[in-house]
Order: sequence, then C-alpha cells, then structure tokens
Amino acid sequence: MFPSRRLLLCLAAACLGAQPAPEALRETAGRLQKEAFRTHGAYQDLAWLCDRVGPRLSGSPQLDQAIAWAQARLQAAGLTNVHAEPVMVPHWVRGHEAAELLLPTPHRLNILGLGGSVGTPEGGLTADVVVVGSFDELDRLGAAAKGRIVVYDVPFKGYGHTVVYRHDGAARAAKAGAVAALVRSVGPVSLDTPHTGVMEYDPAAPKIPTAAITIEAATQMRRMQDRGERIRMKLEMGAQTLPDAPSANVVAELRGTEKPEEVVILSGHLDSWDVGQGAQDDGAGTVIAMEAARLLKTLGLTTRRTIRVVLWTNEENGLRGGKAYCEAHRAELGNIVAALETDSGSERIKAFSLDLRKAAPEAKATALGALKTFGPALAPFGTVDLRLGGSGADVSPMVAEGVPGIGVGHAATHYFDVHHTHADTFDKVEKDDLAHNAAALATFAYALAQSDLRFQ
Ligand SMILES: [Zn+2]
Repeated sequence: MFPSRRLLLCLAAACLGAQPAPEALRETAGRLQKEAFRTHGAYQDLAWLCDRVGPRLSGSPQLDQAIAWAQARLQAAGLTNVHAEPVMVPHWVRGHEAAELLLPTPHRLNILGLGGSVGTPEGGLTADVVVVGSFDELDRLGAAAKGRIVVYDVPFKGYGHTVVYRHDGAARAAKAGAVAALVRSVGPVSLDTPHTGVMEYDPAAPKIPTAAITIEAATQMRRMQDRGERIRMKLEMGAQTLPDAPSANVVAELRGTEKPEEVVILSGHLDSWDVGQGAQDDGAGTVIAMEAARLLKTLGLTTRRTIRVVLWTNEENGLRGGKAYCEAHRAELGNIVAALETDSGSERIKAFSLDLRKAAPEAKATALGALKTFGPALAPFGTVDLRLGGSGADVSPMVAEGVPGIGVGHAATHYFDVHHTHADTFDKVEKDDLAHNAAALATFAYALAQSDLRFQ
C-alpha cells in the first residue's frame, strides 16, 4: 500500500532537506521543557482524572465522564476539531467477589475476577484445588483436573511471556474438565495485590469462572500441595457481560499549516480497569499526549503537518476503539505519517521505537536511519534510544495496514508492580517525570510534523 521506494526517494530528495535544523530543534525542545516544568499541566490533569473520575472501565459512567472531560480540556487548550468518534464497547461488570480457603487452613483470599469471566453459580462454587506450574503440567494431569479448581502458579518472567496464563488459563482448564481457574497474578512483586486483566474463552470449551489470585496465595497453595495436603476452597463471583455500551474515541487537532492532510497521531488510552485509578495504565499516557499538544499550542509552535491527539476507548478489554478508528479512517491511512501511542506508565521516556510491519528489511534499516535524525533534537531529554520495535495495542490495526507505528518506551521499573491493580493510583506518579515526558513527546511530534520525512 505504501511502497518503501517512496522512503528511499524521499530520503534522497526532499525529506531530510526539509527538516528543521538540529540547533533550531534543540532550542525548541528547551522551550517546551521549560514550559512543561513551569505549568506541570499533565500532572494537574492526571490528578483530576484519578481523584475526580477514578477507574474507567468500558461501559462505566466514569469512562463517559472522562471522555467529556478530555474534550473540554482539549477545547480549553485551543485545539481544533475537538470531537468524539462513537464506538460500541463490551460491557463487563465485576459484581461481588469472595474466595475462601476451607482446607487445610481456613482463611479468606484476595482475588480479582478476570475481565470477561462468567460468574459462579448462585451461592458460589466449592471444589478441591489442583496446582500446576505450566500448561504442560496441566496436560499431564489428565482426568485428575476434572471437577477441580485449577490454580496456575506460574512465576513472572516478563509480561509478554507470562500473560498467556491469564488470557488462556480458563479455556485450557475448562478443556481438562475443571470447574474454575485461578491464575497467579501477572506481576513481579506483590503486597497481597491481585492483578486483573482480560481473558478469553475457547468457543469449543465450557465457560468457567476465572480470577487472579496473589503471588502469596498461589505459592502457599503450591507448598500445601507439595506436602500432600488436601486443598479445598469456595469461590463466589458475580461477574457478568451486559449488552455492548456506547463509548467514543476523543480526537483533537493542531492543524498543519502547509500539509494539513498529512497527520502525526499522538495517543494514549482513556479507559482503564475498574480497580485503582488507572494512573499508570493509561492515565499517564493520556495526559502527556494532551499536554504535548497544549505545550505546542501555548508556545505558538505551528507545524507544517497536522498533529492529531487521539484518546482511545476500550484498549483493555476489546480494542474496539483502535479497530473502529482504523475502519473509519481507512481512506486517509496513507496520509498518516506515524501513529504514536504511549501506554507503559509514567516513568521517564527512554526510547521511541518504529514499528513497520509491511516493510522489507532494507527499507526498515533506511527508515531507522531517518528516525535517528531526531536524536539531536531529543538530546535535552537524556539518553533516548531510537530503534525498531513494537508500538501500541490501539494503533496496531493501523500498523497492520502499513501505517508506521511509534512505540514509546518508558523506564517502567515499577510499572508491572501496580499494573491492573487497586494500587495503580496517582500517588505513585512523579511530577517531574510527567513534565519531562510531555516535553519529549511534544518535541518528537514537532520535529516529525515540521519535516517531510516518511518512514514508509
Ligand atoms: Zn494500557
């Protein structure tokens, strides 16, 4: 759809030549940084979003409130074409939850139902437990899993590696005849904090209730089983999936002065899970995208191309916002120069990664060379790696169609400690990190929107 030859021609001719001079970009970066640290607008916005709106699961009144609030903020900042693009989203509700170990030592357990799970039968479900450390171990159990609650005690070896147990654990356990599945939370540490997240059933297997348990509970049950003790528990979950609900992506623009039809997208997702405040995931990404645009507007930094802020709905349990956007904007995909998404917390930006799905290896190498021309402009932000890599979930439908994706790599040293938990709250956010990130994002967007550069 977008031939890589265009990039080569582009690099050879106009593109790099039309980039602003590195010294000018560095000076602009300094101004953006100064303004970001003077106003701390992203920090103020995130405080409001967390304290006054709170968690924003798809279908909830809080998400509707956040969508209205974001539009008002972008309007007040002087952005143009501020609007909401409607999309229907899944509407899952958690309901009442409780879990109790009955044998060998009675006590209550902290759980969080996984998004999309069915509830337990009226009055709850009581069964013996079998603990496994992998899908292989489950398979080796054979008929021994039948009628049991399967507990997955799988240590965290990185999110991408371990999340499959949360996503597929119930489906696999149901196929083995289990009556419920409990999954050790996908995170590196725990203060008795269960981590929720989305799961999916296999249409070929029964739908059984599934929840996250804490690292403490999973490892304790493993020890009990290893000692040969009988483990029995009672699980109550009131979860249910209601009919799809109306929602929307929020869109706002800084219109380009020379090539307004060419667009650089800055984005984060406005929805979150229904626990905590969605501060790191992804309130932080949302407010720095908003603030980056606001900083450019405040300083009167117009760009040749359009910078478009998109705040996605339903990243967490359906990706309906990203999918609907790609469909609705199919005709202009060739003009989307890059779709950037920040969705890995509030810590300092350490990398921008270019995600080209349809390019040949040589074309990717050339595009990486083009990305690296932003290095000098980003110098005021410390070491920022410019590399090939992934982008974001919400932009992935566009990236699959050939739109260059830009991922934002944050330090994320504590991101997965609180990810999808009651502890994902505003107090863990460093004020200066948000100002730093907003200015870095604004600088990147400015440099790209001022240039003729094409990655693909
Ligand atoms: Zn997220």
